[in-house]
Amino acid sequence: MLFGAIEAGGTKMVVATGDEYGNIFKKTEIKTTTPEETVGHIKDFFGKNRPGALGIGAFGPVCVDENSSDYGRIGKTPKLKWTDFSWKEAFSDMGIPISVDTDVNAAAIGEYVRGNAVGIDDFIYITIGTGVGVGVMLNGEPLHGMLHPEAGHILLPINADDGFPGICPYHQNCFEGLASGPAMKKRYGIEPYLITEKGPWETEADYIAKAIMQYICCYSPKRIILGGGVMNSGRLFDPVRKKVLTYLNDYISTKELLDIDSYIVPAGLSGDQGITGALHLAQNAIRKDKENE
Ligand code: ZN
Repeated sequence: MLFGAIEAGGTKMVVATGDEYGNIFKKTEIKTTTPEETVGHIKDFFGKNRPGALGIGAFGPVCVDENSSDYGRIGKTPKLKWTDFSWKEAFSDMGIPISVDTDVNAAAIGEYVRGNAVGIDDFIYITIGTGVGVGVMLNGEPLHGMLHPEAGHILLPINADDGFPGICPYHQNCFEGLASGPAMKKRYGIEPYLITEKGPWETEADYIAKAIMQYICCYSPKRIILGGGVMNSGRLFDPVRKKVLTYLNDYISTKELLDIDSYIVPAGLSGDQGITGALHLAQNAIRKDKENE
């Protein structure tokens, strides 16, 4: 069966068709504009190759509770035109099963089925780019709880040598406010990928390590996968690993932490983790549809 997948971001949507094994057949990027225009372009992409099910990894906040009448509906968002938009309603005319989770949970699922978390049921996936998002996998399922975790918004203490107050409009100095790509750009006045000095990357690694230390204490993950544009700079893995161990200060001692290079790792699907996870969500949609029959 042909599956459809959407990785819905605030600036662009990645749309693909693929199969049950997560193989991508056709993929394109569509600029995120108004819901009407964007959905129209997505439907044009599928065209005659109508998929048998659709999986969507969407920017949040989005209702991911399948038992809710609001399942697939976006909540209050700074992307005003998308507030209250329902993914399920928008594609209901296709008459196919639809499954919706967050973009970061979709990426975690992608890493679980085909990437660097295959066989690991409890891990976290962190993306650090335009925003900071965290997908928590527990027993092979993404943690949802009352809505879904927003662990990119945990408050972090500002370093004594960092006069930057943070840019999150809600919390100022949360993880995203201090360490997202836009935060780095605001702090240093240039795009992160153009930063060549060591100092800024040390500061960035420090905030990432502080957040990871808290996730380790809270979720006890067996692996931590880091993705997103800021991580792709390639300058962060070594200092992050070192600083995580420093902050843990031997308080937790496990075989995983002893092999820190295999514990904190990059994403394994080179940017395709989100869309791969969305394909898997489409497969889930079929399974759940059958269960409900
Ligand atoms: Zn925040």
